[in-house]
Amino acid sequence: AALYRIDGWGKPYFSVNSSGNISVSPYGTDTLPHQDIDVMKVVKKVSDPISVGGLGLPLPLILRFPDVLKNRLESLQSAFDFSIQSQGYDSHYQGVYPVKCNQDRFVVEDIVKFGSPFRFGLEAGSKPELLLAMSSLCKGNPEALLICNGFKDAEYISLALISRKLALDTVVVMELEEELDLIIDLSRRLSVRPVIGVRAKLRTKHSGHFGTTSGEKGKFGLTTTQILRIVRKLDSVGMLDCLQLLHFHIGSQIPSTDLLTDGVAEAAQIYCELVRLGARMRVIDIGGGLGIDYDGSKSTTSDISVGYTLEEYAASVVRAVRIVCDRKGVRHPVICSESGRAIVSHHSVLVFEAVSARLPTTTSISSLGLQYLVEGLTEEARADYASLSAASIRGEYETCLLHADQLRQRCVDQFKDGSLGMEQLAAFDGLYEFVSKALGVADPVRTYHVNLSIFTSIPDFWGIGQLFPIIPIHRLDQKPEVRGILSDLTCDSDGKIDKFIGGESSLPLHELEGENGGGGRYYLGMFLGGAYEEAIGGLHNLFGGPSVVRITQSDGPYSFAVTRAVQGPSCGDVLRVMQHEPELMFQSLKHRAEEYIHEEDTASLANWLAHSFHNMPYLMAAPSSCCLTAASNP
Ligand code: PLP
Repeated sequence: AALYRIDGWGKPYFSVNSSGNISVSPYGTDTLPHQDIDVMKVVKKVSDPISVGGLGLPLPLILRFPDVLKNRLESLQSAFDFSIQSQGYDSHYQGVYPVKCNQDRFVVEDIVKFGSPFRFGLEAGSKPELLLAMSSLCKGNPEALLICNGFKDAEYISLALISRKLALDTVVVMELEEELDLIIDLSRRLSVRPVIGVRAKLRTKHSGHFGTTSGEKGKFGLTTTQILRIVRKLDSVGMLDCLQLLHFHIGSQIPSTDLLTDGVAEAAQIYCELVRLGARMRVIDIGGGLGIDYDGSKSTTSDISVGYTLEEYAASVVRAVRIVCDRKGVRHPVICSESGRAIVSHHSVLVFEAVSARLPTTTSISSLGLQYLVEGLTEEARADYASLSAASIRGEYETCLLHADQLRQRCVDQFKDGSLGMEQLAAFDGLYEFVSKALGVADPVRTYHVNLSIFTSIPDFWGIGQLFPIIPIHRLDQKPEVRGILSDLTCDSDGKIDKFIGGESSLPLHELEGENGGGGRYYLGMFLGGAYEEAIGGLHNLFGGPSVVRITQSDGPYSFAVTRAVQGPSCGDVLRVMQHEPELMFQSLKHRAEEYIHEEDTASLANWLAHSFHNMPYLMAAPSSCCLTAASNP
């Protein structure tokens, strides 16, 4: 556990159990009674063939733990409730979940259900997200907020206004000044009194990667001058009472409470000014930014860590708003946050398999037959070989490397002019490798090939170099013998992971079991990837998303129950996304088979093709004979 820093990033949900497997404690290890879920047992139950009691679902897998989601929501709420109570704050906290972090239907439905007792709402940033938020909140607490962010056209604003007619507490948050005329016009036409928010562009700037949206030059929000113009215009049309919310977002992964306090205090001043100018303000919406400690380092200067706890975050926010409002004699507003990463990151684990490992090439000097080959070399090359041999006897390794390098270069020159054969060239390449390996120059790191697409499942590693904890999910009671990097299935040199938390350029890994290291099953997990990764992932090489299962705690012998299991998109599904028509593709291949294969088994070939459209794009065990017998069309 220490090797992989699990205590740092995993607490209180992930730990290593007595079998050496990762276990999940959905309500945290500190809460009793709790029953841990052994992730390997889940993987076996889900992926074993149906014939041996499994569900036969192909890997890679996303394991969702809704109990973890519930615990995250409740922890956030109770952190704010505690600060509000202990600081004598005179209003309440009422958060919203930004659906862009993970729009999965069951994630959103769970959040609405779990958050209903404390009026937890949703945030949308586009029209489909708004439709999803509107319909989900129909089953939620009627007091929950629905915050509409993002750039808006008439249709977006009309949808938001209609949702107020549906008795949802929807707030249209203005990102651009131009949106105001549309809001005024459409609300009159639809006879809806809108509730309006303004997104302020703060001067407080967060300097990390995720802070590029903040500061005066940030992409989003309204300047002080623009906010003032909006206030005047609303006043002139008798709608200043509609302005009720102030929003800001200084960026994701806010590294420290100092920066947070700075931003919240600046926004609280604007809030108080809006009250003074006559708006009927009720909510301060502090945006997202509550961070995750991906490497467990508690650093305040890194993009992948944060130097505070949930409780410290909440206390800083409540304190900053309270102090400013008390000074100005303004009633304490409802505090809303749009925490996404902090709510959904922990609830899912991506499980994938290492299918083979390539060893660094090694060559035994005795196997080279060099003495015989030396005959064909030029005089200079022979001299290098002699010097190399002499230096090796004297133990002068640096000199060995120098001569081996010179010798190799001379051999390449000889090969180019046709005086050296391929076998000789390969033999002297081998000698160079042998010498450099003896000196520790050769790379001892293995490449583990994983049945995964990084572009689909860990896109932020590829896109912005974000690191996530990646570790084996079993054999953690055995010392890893080797180090490796991970290489995915795509035909793309970017499809590899060679940077890991803790600043490591390789990961301690176990030897694969079985023949040539290729026959055993070795499972790895990527943790804390529940936010953004699924939504951002692409279809490079047409690898679609993983299979998804939902695991809840249960009192039965297994301590868990699989409440939902869905195979990932098939080859046909991903082809359809790119406008191909798998049914027509299948028909044309079938006709072609009938035309060209004059054998009796074209029917079974057609069946086999049909299965190829049905199966997932990832590697699977060799197709069994049943693939050639069962009939169905794509
Ligand atoms: N709200 C807005 C306006 C955002 O742009 C974002 C993400 O950047 C969020 C909320 C969610 O932020 P986080 O995931 O850091 O909580």
